[in-house]
Amino acid sequence: MGLDASITMKNTRLKSACLRLAAGCAAILACTAAPAAVPTSTQKPAGVHAWGYEGELGPHHWGELDAANITCRIGHHQSPIAIAPQAQAPHHVQAAEFHYGTVPMRLVNNGHTVEAELTQPEKAPWIAIDGKRFSLAQLHFHHPSEHTLAGKRYPMEMHLVHKSEDGKLAVVAAFIREGAASQPLGQAFAHLPTAAAAHEAAPIAIDLSKLLPGRHDAWMYEGSLTTPPCTEGVQWIVLKKPISLSAAQIRHFSSLFPDNHRPVQSLGDRQLED
Ligand SMILES: [Zn+2]
Repeated sequence: MGLDASITMKNTRLKSACLRLAAGCAAILACTAAPAAVPTSTQKPAGVHAWGYEGELGPHHWGELDAANITCRIGHHQSPIAIAPQAQAPHHVQAAEFHYGTVPMRLVNNGHTVEAELTQPEKAPWIAIDGKRFSLAQLHFHHPSEHTLAGKRYPMEMHLVHKSEDGKLAVVAAFIREGAASQPLGQAFAHLPTAAAAHEAAPIAIDLSKLLPGRHDAWMYEGSLTTPPCTEGVQWIVLKKPISLSAAQIRHFSSLFPDNHRPVQSLGDRQLED
């Protein structure tokens, strides 16, 4: 069977799956971190295709679900990765300069995760990497963590997706361990939207300056979106110090998303900067 026939078959199956899950499928936005989906919650790009985290719609099939997802299958600089920290790191670097404050954000359940989007994008907090400015577009969560550290998976991981004026993406990732409840995320986690595309909630203020650990030491590498279409050229900044959520906060998120992580991808010829 040729590749085309196989793809057609899968699409047919996909469509019937979609019909069965009509409400969910209609509500699914494109990739949570995709450039096209970054600007606002109300934009639903044309050509949205269903994907998920298990079975025929799961990560091992993303590259076959749609021609636009080919990078998920053939890319060589994919994310997430397994981070194997060297016992003796040569030095610690301040990976990025953070210009974070309190911003109003609106929570959206897009069927793949809960995302907090800026309600005033013109006042977006920003980071600078080597002098280049990337403005925050949205933040979202994975359960369990997508990156692994020394073979260990954290209960959750938070991704802060930033975009530069010339369209480049930089994602700050923070591992989330179980511990003290997060104050900056307290209000958000008390109002996690439960239904896909339920984005009518009133904005909440999130103090991003208190959200991240005090030290911003990080592992940096060049990777991809961890959701279809798995676009490459994404600068990853994986913070070494985790943040914490309480057991109840983690349980609340996991009741909505029991598993929304992509397995680790090969590091290939890439260097992990420490
Ligand atoms: Zn993510």
